[in-house]
Amino acid sequence: MSCLTFREAISARLDGESLGMPARELERHLDTCAGCAGWSDEAARVTRRARLASAPAVPDLTGAVLAALPRELPGAAAAARRQLLDTGLRLALLAVGVAQAGIAWPVLVSGAGAMSAPAHMTHETGAWNLAVAAAFLAVAAAPRLAAGALPFLLSFTVLLLPVTLADLGSGHVHADRALTHLLLVVGVVLVSAGAWRNRARKRSPRVLLSRIRERGLAA
Ligand SMILES: [Zn+2]
Repeated sequence: MSCLTFREAISARLDGESLGMPARELERHLDTCAGCAGWSDEAARVTRRARLASAPAVPDLTGAVLAALPRELPGAAAAARRQLLDTGLRLALLAVGVAQAGIAWPVLVSGAGAMSAPAHMTHETGAWNLAVAAAFLAVAAAPRLAAGALPFLLSFTVLLLPVTLADLGSGHVHADRALTHLLLVVGVVLVSAGAWRNRARKRSPRVLLSRIRERGLAA
C-alpha cells in the first residue's frame, strides 16, 4: 500500500470519518514510516489550529433587526382575533343550548305542554327539543362536531319554520310559543358559522404546514 493511501486514512481519521483500513495497519505504518508520521503530526496541528481559530467579527445587528420588526406580528394578531371569535361563538351557543334545555326539560318531565296537546305528543316534543339543546351544547363543548350536527339541526329548522308561520297565520299557535323557535334559529346559525369556520381553517396554510410536518415525522 502506498504512503498516499495511508495519508488519506490519516486525513479521514482527523475528520472523524472511516479510515478505509484497519486502524492497526495504519499505526504499524506510522511506526515504520517517518515521512507519514511527520505528515500526520503536521496535519493534526493544522486541523487543530483551524478548529480553534476564532470566528471573524460580525457587527451586532440585534438592534437593527428588532427595530425593523413590526410592532405586532400580523399572524399573531389574526390568530388572536380568530380565537376571540371562536370563543364568542361557543359561549353564545352554550347560552342558547342552556335556554333551549330550560324550555324543553319541564315539558318533557311534566308532560303538561302548551295548547293542551295529548301527553305523549308533549313528551315527544319535549324529547326533540331537549335533543336539539344537547346538540347545541355538544357543539359548544367540541366545535369540531359542528358539521356533523348540521344535517339534523338544519332540516329540523327548515321544516319547522314554514309550518310555524302557517300555524301563526291560522291561529294554531300562540306567538309566545312560536317565539321560542327563534332560539332554534339562532342556535342553527351559530352552529353553521362554526362549521364554516372549521372548513376555512382546514384549508389555512398554517394547518396545511403542520399536516405536512406531521406526515414527514410519521414517515
Ligand atoms: Zn509512509
